[in-house]
Amino acid sequence: MNKKQIEELKKKLEENKASLEKALGSFAKKDNVPEGDWETVFPKVEGSNMEEKADEVEEYSTLLPVEHALEIKLKNINDALEKIKKGTYGKCEKCGKEISHKKLLITPETKKCKNCV
Ligand SMILES: [Zn+2]
Repeated sequence: MNKKQIEELKKKLEENKASLEKALGSFAKKDNVPEGDWETVFPKVEGSNMEEKADEVEEYSTLLPVEHALEIKLKNINDALEKIKKGTYGKCEKCGKEISHKKLLITPETKKCKNCV
């Protein structure tokens, strides 16, 4: 990959990062430590009866796996941005070969080449 291609992917990663943070921010608050960890904030359910409360909590708990998936994706994006800084971006973590540009265009945060996934 040339510098221009990496710059393009970096832009893509940063855009993805911003939209992920926005998505997480809609139902979670950002924790200070550790970095990148988000805690789901349960809504206050004052003034409703016990049954309603249980329903709301149950509904809310279905968001937890979603939050977790977004967190993992965000972490991978941060890792990729870190690699761009270090100059190791685009190399497979397993075999060390270059990951195809085509694959990176689809998922710029990918860590492994198509042979290792
Ligand atoms: Zn590989």
